[in-house]
Amino acid sequence: MKTALITGVTGQDGALLAKRLLARGDRVVGTVRRSASANLWRLEELAIAQHERLSLKSFDLLDAERARTLLADIHPDEVYNLAAQSSVGASFEEPMLTLQAVGAAPLQLLEAIRQFDPKIRFFQASSAEMFGMPRSAPQDEDTPLCPRTPYGAAKVYAHWMTVSYRDTYGLFGCSGILYNHESALRSREFVTRKISDSVAKIRLGKLECLRLGRLDSRRDWGYAPDYVEAMVRMMQSESPGTYVLATGRTASIRDFAAIAFRAAGIEIEFRGTGPDETAVDRNNGRTVIRVDPALYRPVEPEQLVGNPARARAALGWEPAMPLDRICAEMVEADLRRNAAGVSL
Ligand code: NAP
Repeated sequence: MKTALITGVTGQDGALLAKRLLARGDRVVGTVRRSASANLWRLEELAIAQHERLSLKSFDLLDAERARTLLADIHPDEVYNLAAQSSVGASFEEPMLTLQAVGAAPLQLLEAIRQFDPKIRFFQASSAEMFGMPRSAPQDEDTPLCPRTPYGAAKVYAHWMTVSYRDTYGLFGCSGILYNHESALRSREFVTRKISDSVAKIRLGKLECLRLGRLDSRRDWGYAPDYVEAMVRMMQSESPGTYVLATGRTASIRDFAAIAFRAAGIEIEFRGTGPDETAVDRNNGRTVIRVDPALYRPVEPEQLVGNPARARAALGWEPAMPLDRICAEMVEADLRRNAAGVSL
């Protein structure tokens, strides 16, 4: 039986990965910031919170000198480093904390692996934000990194450390350059889940109107369980590598919102432009979307779309789920939760 250590097991990807690895028969140890106040709703929704092969350990990225003790306690075969201050917006408000949690903590994990047992395999959750404002699209593994946000810059550091420990010390260090990936387990601070949750509330008469930033912003959105599958495949490969994980297609926030309303049985029509743009419910003329310039991001990534050809060829990986089904799954989950009065 393999032992996998997942940092950030309470997050979207961590919970989905735990489920995937438990199904494979692994023992899974997941880290939480503080055991007493760990937020276990995702593990509970996936019905694995009480799984006999899942255990939880405290590990704060801001106290990552403890990485070696953690490894000595658990003796994992694989470490998936998914924990992070994962919000680009919050990284502008907390740049130093982001540097520590997103940039330095992975280095401490790599260093602990090198010292404790260099045979332990390591996965680093890198991000498309590392490309910043790319000059070419789609991006692949050879596209220059040019981050524009504190989050992106910290991810670049961790990515290069993963590559460096692979090249210098022969560690099995993998880096997955992840484009946005969504599911019903996404946190509500991210726009897709904000949309699905608000659409459910509007459908149930609990909210009048959804406020969004730039509706023209485009994202390469995939399905989180597909991306978790790619992580597992990378870690089972013969040799470690760097892979772009993306769908190769983009959609705008306007598109995503329209799909979400449709999934809830509401057809909408957009009117106006820029900050004056709104969307109305075709059935009753009520305004259900307004643009709020206060929600514009300081730096808006342009042309971020990935080319997953290497992952397709080397891992046999395919981002299978179409956006309308991802969105429908999210809206259905939020309709169920909101109808039951549950706020997650
Ligand atoms: P997420 O849902 O925000 O989960 C982040 C996890 O990190 C949570 O378990 C959180 O714990 C934990 N965490 C945050 N700060 C911590 C700290 N100081 N110490 C210990 N744990 C801490 O993120 P995700 O969507 O699953 O993403 C997984 C990874 O992929 C992240 O590294 C993210 O940056 C990267 N990534 C994600 C995407 C995407 O579209 N999802 C795209 C590119 C890269 P709490 O439960 O206590 O908050």
